[in-house]
Amino acid sequence: MWIDASWLLLAALISWTLAEAVFPGVAPHLARTTYWWMAVATTIGLLFSIVFHEMAHSLVARRYGMPIRGITLFIFGGVAEMDEEPPNAKSELVMAAAGPAASFVLAAALFLLFHLAKGSSGPEALKVTLWYLASLNGILALFNLVPAFPLDGGRMLRAALWFWRGDLIWATRIAAAGGDFFGVALIVLGVVSIMTGDLVGGIWRILIGMFVRGAADASLQQVLTRNVLESLPVSRVMTRQPIAVSPNVSIADFIENFIYGHHHRCFPVTSDETLIGTVGTSQVTEINRAEWPTTPVHHIMLAPRSDEVVGPEADALAALAQMQRSGYSRLWVVDHGRLVGVLSLHDVLELLSAKLEIEQSRTDRPVESHHAGRP
Ligand SMILES: [Zn+2]
Repeated sequence: MWIDASWLLLAALISWTLAEAVFPGVAPHLARTTYWWMAVATTIGLLFSIVFHEMAHSLVARRYGMPIRGITLFIFGGVAEMDEEPPNAKSELVMAAAGPAASFVLAAALFLLFHLAKGSSGPEALKVTLWYLASLNGILALFNLVPAFPLDGGRMLRAALWFWRGDLIWATRIAAAGGDFFGVALIVLGVVSIMTGDLVGGIWRILIGMFVRGAADASLQQVLTRNVLESLPVSRVMTRQPIAVSPNVSIADFIENFIYGHHHRCFPVTSDETLIGTVGTSQVTEINRAEWPTTPVHHIMLAPRSDEVVGPEADALAALAQMQRSGYSRLWVVDHGRLVGVLSLHDVLELLSAKLEIEQSRTDRPVESHHAGRP
């Protein structure tokens, strides 16, 4: 599990809000240090509540064979990082519902504890903290059930729409519009709160509204991007007949005609169209300048690494992930040893933005896509 650095800052902000603004109102006549102890305990309890909620999601996800890379904790919830979209509508529905269900169970358990404590002679601070934590879990469940994608309720709405019409993109658009609307509503509510004197509550509403809006837009873009790239083979994006160096070219010629002529730092070396190595600026600088005219590039070239090579049949999404992992912005497209093209990050992104522009103009009427009828 990964705790986002923002959470530490938020934890401090939450503790401060509770100790200075909330608890003195809920339970007057307690000492200021007591409010701070209660606030810190509640913040830690909230952290555990969120982890509990997210664990419920990932347990169900794992049951459906969807690995979750990690959980990043954000304001009012975690974001489970998934490598792929859920395989079908039903699994997404169950996965999304698991979190709020877990929060309701935890809220009920804490309310039970509160009632047991209430009858006892225990300190009031403990009772108030228990009651408050129970309420927070209830709020966590209800908040996440709002049909605003990518909140759990929005995911459930998307799953239902996806199941109904079999079009994931259409379902995501509608659920993300719900997220946008809810985010704007929270921001407006926050501004109204501030104008009527509730500064702290107003700032919280604005922050959460901005977070939900940003997450809705990002999630929609991610789904659209995935959809475009998944169905696109590398061979359709790559530049054919790539510029390649032959092994006997001298380093001096290579610098003059290739590096200065084509503005790339690294080039493939081919012999009879077969990729035998790569050569770039960092290999050139290892050789004495005086020897440049007489040294052929095959003396300094490197063997091609497996993470800079991609097959023409691979899909563009996998290639993009490979670029992200390896840090290479250009991949050599090799078919049975033959260099058939070069795939550059720039080309993938250009094509992606063109395709998205065309996708955006698509009417919101559901159409048969390759997602329809997926198992
Ligand atoms: Zn959730």
